[in-house]
Amino acid sequence: ASKENGRNRYNYFSQDMRTVAKNRMRSINELREAYKEEQFEVYYQPIIDFESGKIVKAEALLRWNHPTRGIVGADEVIPLSEETGLIVDIGNWVFQKGTKQLAEWQQKYEPNFQLSVNTSPIQYYHNDCIVNDWYAYMDTLGVDYTSLVVEITENLMLDLDGKVRAKLDAFRNGGVQLALDDFGTGYSSLAYLKNLKSNYLKIDRSFVSNIVGNDKNLALCLEIIKIAHIFDMQVIAEGIETQEQAWLLSDGGCDFAQGYFYSKPVSAEVFETYLIKQKGDDDHQESRPLLAA
Ligand code: C2E
Ligand code: MG
Ligand code: MG
Ligand code: MG
Repeated sequence: ASKENGRNRYNYFSQDMRTVAKNRMRSINELREAYKEEQFEVYYQPIIDFESGKIVKAEALLRWNHPTRGIVGADEVIPLSEETGLIVDIGNWVFQKGTKQLAEWQQKYEPNFQLSVNTSPIQYYHNDCIVNDWYAYMDTLGVDYTSLVVEITENLMLDLDGKVRAKLDAFRNGGVQLALDDFGTGYSSLAYLKNLKSNYLKIDRSFVSNIVGNDKNLALCLEIIKIAHIFDMQVIAEGIETQEQAWLLSDGGCDFAQGYFYSKPVSAEVFETYLIKQKGDDDHQESRPLLAA
């Protein structure tokens, strides 16, 4: 009987692994198909300048407009795309779609508006021309390189070998701004901060979410802000969900705000309504805050 069990167990596990492998293949094919069929979309989340209360940037975030499931989030797309290398094409697509939109919004509403685009390490490893290609594309749009913010994660910084480093330097030397995303979740040290010369530090949501009523967590956030300023970086707080969080961070010298308190990531159409309202308020020289605040 025990032999029987053993074989069953073996069969059970191998069956399981086959299912996993099959599902994986299906997901990969589905993603490739989605890309070809143009089922991807770019959503935009406002980034607010604490001082003026105005939306001054948008972060581009990938969405999959799935034929049966509806809008699917980035977390279901990005990891598998990175594993298969599809992220190179998807990343280029998000960049192009986003900067085309940026060009339009700059012309219509706000000439200094900026777009922040996430990048994954694979995009640097497997695309030697990323910098020149992106510059060429912005040239065709007439978009200034300084309007683009490239977000990188701390994990990417661990892999700061010559190749990745050279591309980040090339971006920065051309005027593109760099943002260190999800700060506090990875393994980067103060030496990295000094070394990378990134323009922005984005405090991860996990730090922002528990500053209210917790002195130690608040102190940690405020120290991160101070350190960033020492290294000439401006600070963007991610994942602000309440007015209290916004006040505490603003009082602590944080420069920019992002989070559901202001707006979730939204379609280009919805985002444009924010810009229209903001421009209307400007024209009437009112300074009342635009969104939920
Ligand atoms: P991220 O770059 O850190 O983006 C912020 C994420 O936090 C977004 O999730 C956003 O929807 C979410 N978020 C913003 N404010 C709040 C809040 O107040 N509360 C909560 N609970 N969440 C908030 P999203 O869009 O699902 O993206 C997840 C991650 O996927 C991104 O994290 C980024 O690392 C990656 N990603 C998204 N789009 C792209 C892309 O085009 N290329 C690459 N390489 N990665 C991308
Ligand atoms: Mg990001
Ligand atoms: Mg982040
Ligand atoms: Mg992230």
